[in-house]
Amino acid sequence: MHEPRTEPAISTSEIESWLGGEYPGGDAALAHDAYAVTLQEVGSEVHLRGLVEFSNRCNCDCRYCGIRKSAGTQEGGSRLQRFTLSEDEIVTTARRCVEAGYGSMTLQSGERRSASFVRFVVRVVRRIKTETRTSVLPKGLGITVCIGEQSEESYRRLFDAGAHRYLLRIETSNPDLFARLHPRCQRFDDRLEALHRLKAIGFQVGTGVMIGLPGQSLKDLAADIQFFRSIDADMIGMGPYLERSLPVGTDELDTDLVSRLSRPDRLRLSLRMIAATRLVLRDVNIAATTALQAISPHGREAGLAFGANVLMPIMTPKTRRGNYLLYHDKPCVDEDSTACVSCTVARIHGIGRPIGMNTWGDSPHFERRMRSPA
Ligand code: SAH
Repeated sequence: MHEPRTEPAISTSEIESWLGGEYPGGDAALAHDAYAVTLQEVGSEVHLRGLVEFSNRCNCDCRYCGIRKSAGTQEGGSRLQRFTLSEDEIVTTARRCVEAGYGSMTLQSGERRSASFVRFVVRVVRRIKTETRTSVLPKGLGITVCIGEQSEESYRRLFDAGAHRYLLRIETSNPDLFARLHPRCQRFDDRLEALHRLKAIGFQVGTGVMIGLPGQSLKDLAADIQFFRSIDADMIGMGPYLERSLPVGTDELDTDLVSRLSRPDRLRLSLRMIAATRLVLRDVNIAATTALQAISPHGREAGLAFGANVLMPIMTPKTRRGNYLLYHDKPCVDEDSTACVSCTVARIHGIGRPIGMNTWGDSPHFERRMRSPA
């Protein structure tokens, strides 16, 4: 048994070497050390956030994404049907999260900035906060919002309505790579600015990247981890990049969007990224994301073994799941939320980890940040 590494500053080139498989003792030692830091800094409990993908309408055109504005067809050639769940449907799903013992939920959708959309989400947040109060959750469900870049005023209104966490992935911290993946009107600097805005308002801020993007180097990924540290992120959500649909078919994938890494390599790299992030950032919440499971049936459990401590079981109503396919092979599409609840519990218990039931499971990093602001 060797002691987990505790150096305060780890260099980008050292992280890069770990990502390349050169951690002393190999991947098993990397997982071991990352898990030791997990236990020490955030505990063994796995926290759950019921994920509600409440709308696939989107005004952005991220080239990799299956629900981007210009996506007309789905995998297999069927038409992508745009939807937005009603307020009541979302609140009902929130109640299901409470019944399942999840202390928190995540509201995710495509990105729209219209006043009516923001008003809608604010109303939903308010209703969830009042209608999910129980004796075990006196302040209602914890709410994470993930609806992209919004104005400062919109972020503030969401925060005032009771959302206290926000996820906004930077997607890649390399501005050139970012520019290749997005249309010119979607600017890296705007995304960065939005992250700072969220922080200033008082949200617990989560960010993350896709791993194995075409044109992405190990150095880029190592720099991503340094980026997380530089913005003092509280939560990290990242997973393998997956081509958005089969390269053949009506919605043909641009050839320059095909990753040069095999899927097993992308999974391995994603696990190393999780572990390296745990070793460098230490007390943040890290999600084992759905995309890990798109590559391997036990991808999310592997993520937990490499230092993740959050899972986001999908709670989107079954009838809508087939229209929220961000990428090829998204798992759990044919399941309903009851199946996802029992499967999630079984998976976590199967690896011997306790579940943080009926708590928000806030990022210890955030709590420390609040106690001693910079
Ligand atoms: N509109 C919201 C939510 C976007 S979808 C926002 O902008 O934050 C949530 C995440 O799915 C994205 O941030 C992206 O990292 C991930 N995603 C999208 N397409 C993907 C793909 N092809 N492979 C892997 N992850 C993808």
